[in-house]
Amino acid sequence: MSNIKAITKKQAAADAKAQGLTQFTAVCTKHGEGPHQSSSARCVACNADNHQQWRATPKGREAHNAYSRQWSTSEVAQHHQGEKRGAADWRKATGGTMHGWYVVERDALRQLYSERPEGFAIDHAIPKKAYGRIDGKRQRV
Ligand SMILES: [Zn+2]
Repeated sequence: MSNIKAITKKQAAADAKAQGLTQFTAVCTKHGEGPHQSSSARCVACNADNHQQWRATPKGREAHNAYSRQWSTSEVAQHHQGEKRGAADWRKATGGTMHGWYVVERDALRQLYSERPEGFAIDHAIPKKAYGRIDGKRQRV
């Protein structure tokens, strides 16, 4: 890679970062034109390849497993498990049939997520109803 190209890519990364973008499009010598990280100016596909290779090594596999074990006991992971069980219960109770305003809700959610500040997660944008009646029985919804 020539020095001029590296400066250009770094400058593009800095510009993207200044605009609040996490990624920008640049040309990778291996993958061609594609997304690059604003934080490091690195090719997203190259990062993924490198990570995949590292994970295949014994050291990488052990590090990944250690991370997974730690993650699975975290509060966030426990919360996700609860959400997953709730979703499974809902599918079981309703047969997975989406309600009539699902399309409207989906668009509103996409809008909400697209406007989410970087580094923030949307958990419950509006307070959710924790219990409701399914088949006449009070159940978690
Ligand atoms: Zn690449």
